[in-house]
Amino acid sequence: MHQIKNKIPALYHHFLPSFIHEPVPKESIATCNNCIVQKNINNYFVNTKCCVYYAQLPNYLLGGLLMDERPSLQEGRARAIALIAAKKGISPYGLRKPAWYRKFEKATKFKENSPKTQKENETLLCPFYDNGNCTTWAYREHCCSTHFCFSVGGDDGQKFWKKLDKYLIRTEKKLAQYAAKTLGCSHPFVDEWQGNKALRADDQNQIINEEKYKSLWAGWQGSEIEFYKAAYQLIETLTPEKYLEIMGEDISEKNREITRLLDTFQNSVIPQYLVWNKETEVTKLNNNEILLSTSKGAYKINMQKLIFLHTFDGKKTLMQVVHLSIKMNRTLAKDISSLIRLKILIPMHNN
Ligand code: SF4
Ligand code: SF4
Repeated sequence: MHQIKNKIPALYHHFLPSFIHEPVPKESIATCNNCIVQKNINNYFVNTKCCVYYAQLPNYLLGGLLMDERPSLQEGRARAIALIAAKKGISPYGLRKPAWYRKFEKATKFKENSPKTQKENETLLCPFYDNGNCTTWAYREHCCSTHFCFSVGGDDGQKFWKKLDKYLIRTEKKLAQYAAKTLGCSHPFVDEWQGNKALRADDQNQIINEEKYKSLWAGWQGSEIEFYKAAYQLIETLTPEKYLEIMGEDISEKNREITRLLDTFQNSVIPQYLVWNKETEVTKLNNNEILLSTSKGAYKINMQKLIFLHTFDGKKTLMQVVHLSIKMNRTLAKDISSLIRLKILIPMHNN
């Protein structure tokens, strides 16, 4: 049985609330060890997977990686040590995006009407990515635990993972603050966790402001590795009660919301075999767009995607069609739930 806890670092298992022991549908299509986007050699993400992302490990997860002696984590540990030595994005709160990365990411994100090129994706590659493998997997951060490019629960699956992601972001922030404060290295700008300008001593030209770096570390400069390890040791010993105290609020409502979304996810798993509803009315619009209509409503889709909808023939599995669409540089991830809700695609047994 797949449980939520299997998707998050083991460090959390003994103190996060009981919802982490709940069963969760297996994400059998976004199989990251056998990544679906790498099945297409022309895909812009073929050399990066979706790790076009700077993993921002909070201090205690970075410490866990630095302490772990398992052979499979030694490459990640060496990379973490090199990042700390370079000081870029290094703070008592953990690893943050360096300024040059933020600048490049922003410049490529807002390019007009064009996706990032393969070369741009490779520049934005996570520092822990190694030839298809994640070198810090046991200590990955929130996004790397909860991102699935295609969920077997469609929109309801994505809503659940997003909620869990938010929960983990909050947990990372509070626990990193607690560890930094306990170790005598906290700062009054904790709300800048995401924007994090105050938590960086590097600039866009990759120059380190040594004075700022020194003041950030409040006496720990030169012992950053020991600091991160101490942060891990602190968090590792948390009890469930202490965790709740650190979170500093009544989180029972958030727990209930996660359980509710999980319940919806479990009841929304997309059938393995779907078939195109022959009663769907197809109207050609301008600009390569098609309007699909049934008695339940209408949905716009582009011509290229329409081809894949006809491959739902009740014989190919959902996974086969999704793989086929990715091979052709199309994704149905954002369309599939609407297409089912509007009965444009129907389960095989209803046909
Ligand atoms: S989420 Fe999708 S793109 Fe990312 S590694 Fe997993 S299968 Fe590949
Ligand atoms: S930490 Fe691992 S999973 Fe996350 S972006 Fe980096 S390489 Fe990918």
